[in-house]
Amino acid sequence: MKKISFSCLLWAICFQIIAQSKANTPEIEYMLSMEQPQTHYFEVTMKVSNFDAKTKQNGFIDFKMAVWTPGSYLIREYAKNVEGFKAAGENGNLKSDKINKNTWRVRLQNNTNQVSVSYKVYANELSVRTSFIDDSHGYLNPASVLVYVNDWKYVPSKLVIKPYKNWTTVSTALPEVAKNTFLAENLDVLIDSPIEIGTQKILTFDLKGIPHKISMYGEAKYDEQKIIKDFNKVCETAMSVIGEHPCKNYTFLIHNLNRGGGGLEHLNSTTCQTSRSSYENEKAYQGFLSLIAHEYFHLWNVKRIRPKALGPFDYENENYTHLLWLSEGCTSFYQNYILRRAGFMTPEDFTANFAKEISLIENQPGNKVQSATESSWDAWIKYYRPNENSKNSTVSYYDKGSVLGGVLNLLILQNTNGKKNFDDVLRFVYQKYYKEQQRGFTDEELQKAVETVAGIPMNDFFQKYIFGTETLPYSEILKAVGMQIVDQNATNNDPYLGVETRNGKIGAVLRDSPAYVDGLNVDDEILSVDGSKPEDLNKIMQSKKVGDTVSIKVKRDGLEKTFTLNLTRNQMKAYKIEALPNQTPEQLALYKKWMFL
Ligand SMILES: [Zn+2]
Repeated sequence: MKKISFSCLLWAICFQIIAQSKANTPEIEYMLSMEQPQTHYFEVTMKVSNFDAKTKQNGFIDFKMAVWTPGSYLIREYAKNVEGFKAAGENGNLKSDKINKNTWRVRLQNNTNQVSVSYKVYANELSVRTSFIDDSHGYLNPASVLVYVNDWKYVPSKLVIKPYKNWTTVSTALPEVAKNTFLAENLDVLIDSPIEIGTQKILTFDLKGIPHKISMYGEAKYDEQKIIKDFNKVCETAMSVIGEHPCKNYTFLIHNLNRGGGGLEHLNSTTCQTSRSSYENEKAYQGFLSLIAHEYFHLWNVKRIRPKALGPFDYENENYTHLLWLSEGCTSFYQNYILRRAGFMTPEDFTANFAKEISLIENQPGNKVQSATESSWDAWIKYYRPNENSKNSTVSYYDKGSVLGGVLNLLILQNTNGKKNFDDVLRFVYQKYYKEQQRGFTDEELQKAVETVAGIPMNDFFQKYIFGTETLPYSEILKAVGMQIVDQNATNNDPYLGVETRNGKIGAVLRDSPAYVDGLNVDDEILSVDGSKPEDLNKIMQSKKVGDTVSIKVKRDGLEKTFTLNLTRNQMKAYKIEALPNQTPEQLALYKKWMFL
């Protein structure tokens, strides 16, 4: 009896809390219009109502614009494109002050129950990380156009879009509840759902019951049926890595441009830019499909299989993680691995690509200075803000992470006798952290996952090659699949200067090269080499040999200077991966597992 009455009381309290919380859930509605697209402006109105008691008590609401967008780790200060911010309540204008670079504080009046803020956003940067509108289409990266209220990040919002004149189509992964009216279940979903508005072509296909849409902006000579067939194959193969698909629907926003390359991943969509000639030759098309595979694979790796720091996001500050080598680098590894498995890349192409990536990182002096984890952590200030010394002091977490993915995959194959590969690590963390615990994972938890799958201790590997800068054990790893790595430059005796030139000026001086040691600088204008004007520095080098000295006259800060350099041997690697002689049946069997043959 007592128990019943206590439980009744609990229910009554719960109902009251539910009723109160419903009564206090703010309502958010955005309206987006574009009256003069040729001027590159979006017009936005955000209407909020039904505030909670705390907001009323505060007497103000802070509206914020994100300073960055997930997936692109640079502070971009989107508020710089906002103008004409105004606020009004149901009884007229409300006072608003800008209290920092990205926050507008709107003062409420006594009986204000509804606030509308309106402003314009200049959008004239057609990249996947920004927004753009002109007379042919609009592309919206919500982080850079829609303001939000920090306390209401978990509140659903409605977005009503009024397309320009005869623009007929709006493409986004957000669910459409009425014509051009979309719902976002919270701020993270809203920000992670880019929108294309215009007269784009729509292609569709279905993958295991999940509708997929391809929005094609821009003219290009593609075969629609081939695009649908090839995308379907890439997506199906990507899905087979994890074994299940978490999306209700998926949208590709493709921009076919004069020049373009790159993509940005989102929760249920991606934006990819490609050259409109991508469809016209096999190599370029393979590159386009590898971009599609990369961005699509992100719907698992980074969007759901995610380091702890990457969601829920802080949109006003840098979000730091050591794991971009996994989120980006291993996604780069999988973009090729998926193409191999789907049959778009031969085993020879795949190994050639792997060897090229190894050469790239091993020829970069910064690979011995910055580790994969440091590269990830400092993405905000180094990878996204390179300078003339970046090659000497940094390594890309894409390139290093891709090589690490390739090596870890081989290591797992070797230690499990081909029963497991890196897919199993991703499946493990997907199940355990995304599905069961619904959170991101730590550095230690990832290492544990690799150890569990590989069945060996991995601390030494992580410390040396991921947190450290030691050279990866390529030969040892490749031997298990009957292959070896060979430096095709091992026997050359070419002389080496160590500079890269751009328009007659020095663009980079590589660490420990003769140019570095003997004092050439970035931005030096090369006036002469051994007395003659250098039309082609490479050609001049071909006439020299190791041990020669060269006299280089440069102009620096308006003054002429002459340097004498002692040419050393060019130690740049050109790796090739090839079969070992006399492969054993075990090696051949493991090779087949590696290549999915
Ligand atoms: Zn990526």
